[in-house]
Amino acid sequence: MAKVAYYSGETFPLEMHKVRIIQKLTLLPVEERLRAIEGAGYNTFLLENRDVFLDMLTDSGVNAMSDRQQAAMLVADDAYAGSETFTRLHDKLREIFAMEYFLPTHQGRAAEHILSRVYVRPGSVVPMNYHFTTMKAHITAVGGEVVELVGEEGVAVTSSHPFKGNVNVNQVREIIDERGAENIAFFRMEAGTNLIGGQPFSLENLRAVSDLCRSAGVYLVLDASLLADNLHFIKVREPGCEDWSVAKICLEMAKCSDIIYFSARKLGFGRGGGIVTNNPDIYTDLRSLVPMYEGFLTYGGMSVREMEAITVGLDETLDEDMINQGPLFIEHFVHEMERRGIPVITPPGGLGAHIDAKGFLDHVDQRQYPSGALASAVYLASGVRGMERGTMSEQREPDGTEPLSHMELLRLALPRRVFTLSQVQYAIDRIHWLYDRRRIVGGLEWVEEPEILRFFYGRLRPVGDWQHALVDKFREDFGDSL
Ligand SMILES: *Cc1c(COP(=O)(O)O)cnc(C)c1O
Repeated sequence: MAKVAYYSGETFPLEMHKVRIIQKLTLLPVEERLRAIEGAGYNTFLLENRDVFLDMLTDSGVNAMSDRQQAAMLVADDAYAGSETFTRLHDKLREIFAMEYFLPTHQGRAAEHILSRVYVRPGSVVPMNYHFTTMKAHITAVGGEVVELVGEEGVAVTSSHPFKGNVNVNQVREIIDERGAENIAFFRMEAGTNLIGGQPFSLENLRAVSDLCRSAGVYLVLDASLLADNLHFIKVREPGCEDWSVAKICLEMAKCSDIIYFSARKLGFGRGGGIVTNNPDIYTDLRSLVPMYEGFLTYGGMSVREMEAITVGLDETLDEDMINQGPLFIEHFVHEMERRGIPVITPPGGLGAHIDAKGFLDHVDQRQYPSGALASAVYLASGVRGMERGTMSEQREPDGTEPLSHMELLRLALPRRVFTLSQVQYAIDRIHWLYDRRRIVGGLEWVEEPEILRFFYGRLRPVGDWQHALVDKFREDFGDSL
């Protein structure tokens, strides 16, 4: 987005792209939305896309591609081994991270699987700023333990801290001393920290962690899935970085890291993933699992067309007119909700707008999943599909007890370059209505609770009959409107 000043003094985000391919949307009447969410077991993951108006579930694999990406897909080289497509992607990664080795994987969690299988043992600990669902599942599946060292501000709902994804550096020192470097599988820093609201860490913090890890001989692993947003925030929020190019910030981050892995469903506007490193020993440690679980070393389970799109998408990630589209739309979304009194995570992060469900539904017990209930209520009110990021997204302890999440969030993801400002305005309007009617909404309880990653496909039902009351109120307030 360009730096444009407005005559009116009002500011709003302005896209530096135009839409050339569209997809028609439908908005169902509220009664049909009720039927759809009932059929989905009050789990927005189980809704059919045809029943969804604005799909804000995720930014994974649903970012809009550019004309340059689509053009590149036509010249993909599908040789099984030694394809030119692989070489182009490898060269692009070398350029942006200055790291020599690249192992392709079919998506981000496949990289997490390989890292966990190779480096995590029963009893090992993996400290990190904050966990991500799939990474935690892989670490615990092989007997490891996740320890989160995000600062207190990281899990505060409202804050003016520009880098809520930072770790507490003293705690990094402590954990290395207490547990011993030999018991630490690796240290993980997640860019654009997903589960606390797409919040960035600072370059200064990354450097401090990297220094401690290097002097203890612990590998620093950067989860770069949400790197684009973090790069943008370092550029606009970190003193001393404002005049740097995004490409330079990216190289500085890579210098601090021993291993970088990413989901190319987010980074690079495509679908895939990978691991890069400059360390030949790490490369050799990890390499054998790629042909075993992913595919040959030059595609790793990805389609060559997607790989071409990712190569161009990585280039666009470093384009300063493009990289801020997501964060600026999210900032608008968050500030407009805040202005209406709706409790939201501040400062605005990347990835999407995050509503604080504990504040929104402060009358719903956390054991009845306020974020999940809010996801269903927002769908009923608007046809907008968001994602529960709270206690439902946690996993039970081995003894069956249920940890309550630090934060109860409803995430409304804004896939890059997909929605218009009027669609965002519509979502704000309906969420505002729901906020005024929030007392109607109650909690949820499990009907079917899977043991692993339960939030993906578990089924629930409302506690009480609040869903019908909400639909009745919608009709009363909106007449025959959709
Ligand atoms: C999405 C995501 C992953 C997992 O990537 P997939 O491609 O969905 O498997 C890992 N880490 C973060 C921070 C993510 O956002």
